[in-house]
Parts: sequence; structure tokens; C-alpha cells
Amino acid sequence: MLYLDYLEQLHRAARSAELTESVYGSVEELGRPWPLLKLESRGRVRLVITAGFHGEEPAGPLTCLQHLQEITAYARAADVGLTIYPCINPSGFEGGHRYNASGEQPNNDFLRYELASGAIKGELAPGEPFARWFLFDGGPKETRAVRSDLERSPTPHAAIDLHQDAWVRRPCHYAYIFGPRRPFEDLVRRTVPFAKAAVHLQVYENKLTDACGLIVDHDGSVSDYFRRRGTRWVVTLETSTATPLPRSTQVNLLWVKAFVDFAAGEPTLTPASS
Ligand SMILES: [Zn+2]
Repeated sequence: MLYLDYLEQLHRAARSAELTESVYGSVEELGRPWPLLKLESRGRVRLVITAGFHGEEPAGPLTCLQHLQEITAYARAADVGLTIYPCINPSGFEGGHRYNASGEQPNNDFLRYELASGAIKGELAPGEPFARWFLFDGGPKETRAVRSDLERSPTPHAAIDLHQDAWVRRPCHYAYIFGPRRPFEDLVRRTVPFAKAAVHLQVYENKLTDACGLIVDHDGSVSDYFRRRGTRWVVTLETSTATPLPRSTQVNLLWVKAFVDFAAGEPTLTPASS
């Protein structure tokens, strides 16, 4: 799908959902500018939805387009304000390739960890201790654009990052989580009618999902960044690209609504970063 067609359809959907549209940046790829759009609504607390870091994972951007009315109405009824970054890597989305058109990898580059030894790492091994974390100021242009915009904004109460897994050959879902497990286990159970949980699955870079299809991973991604900033409810949700697209978007919709509910249960003030 051409990005300009996507933007035009998104614009129509955003207008009828009465969302505020703004351009938070622009990237230059293939010799032309690609405007970066976000959509917002007001509310007592805030949920940030990010989608389309990886271009060959269209379900996230299409969920934001096709289910925009339903998501917005659901959030409004719960007094949850939305900030939606529907297509973070537009040249990847249009080309159907993972990275942007110049081959940069716009994911996992939001922060860095300093270990007690002074060594700097982009992600931690499971349970690995660290001395401090700090915001990374480099990385691909799409990451820099969304990171600066997020840094200008208050810490959200909940954040969901929509991805797909192109390596698993069967329909399924799994999730990178932080914090209490029980709500996520319940969510996985509710999701199974749409796509089975990928349990004990070896995923990206030799990581393993657990018996419920969940992983805890401080990988420097936008979800890791939100968790470090103090956002209580954070997830990176994955469906396989082998999952029929309408099912993937249903899975995304189910989790987005659950995250609206999580945000709605939070006090107005968010905790300081840790
Ligand atoms: Zn991805």
C-alpha cells in the first residue's frame, strides 16, 4: 500500500473519529520527504499506541486505520486519552521491508544501559544488573523523531507497541511484558480464540517465550523505554505474519482495549522514572 494512500484513508478515519492530527516529524527517504503523523484525543489518563516500526509487519498500522473508530469510542467512554503513532517507518511500510529504505533499523534504540563495570549495552540479558540507564540520542531517523516527540510529552499511564513476527510459520501470538503477570495471562487466554499462544517458542535472537507465551526483555525498545520512564502498563504485542490479517487486527484490537482498561484504572499522576 502506498503511504500517501494510507495517510489519506487515515485522515478520513481520524476526522470522523474527531481525533487531532499532527505531524511530529519528517524523514527523507528515496529522495523525498515522508511526513510522520500522530493522532490524539483527550482524556484523564493516557495510552500511547505505537505501530509500524518494522515495515513488513502491516497489521499494526492497519489496526490503527481499520479499527480507529472503535478504539477511539472505547477510549473516550473510559476517559482515556490516546496518542497514536500509526506508522513509524513509512518507507518500510510502503516497500513491505523490515527496515527503512536506507536500511536503518528503527527499533530497540531508545536507551542504553551502563553496567557497574562502566560497560554500555543496548539491551540486558535476563536478570542482568545495571548501574543506570540513559536516553540514547542517536539511531535511525524514525526512532529519533518519535523519541523526541515522546520526550516532550508526559509519561503515559499505558503503552502498547504493535508488531508481527515474520519467522514463525503458523498463526499465533505472544507478548513482551513488564510488571505483574496475571493480567497478561488472562489476556493471552482471551486471545487464544483468535490466535494460539506461542509457548516455549524460540523468537528473535534466541529468546524464548514461557509456558504462557510471555517474555520479559529489557531490549532498549520503546516498551523498555516506557517502563523505565515509569509507565505501569507496557507491552510489545506480536502476532505472526502467518496469522490471517483480520485475525491479527482482532488480536491487536483486543489488547488495545484491554490497555484502555488498564490505563482507566490508574491514578492521574504517573510515577517518576526508575
Ligand atoms: Zn517487529
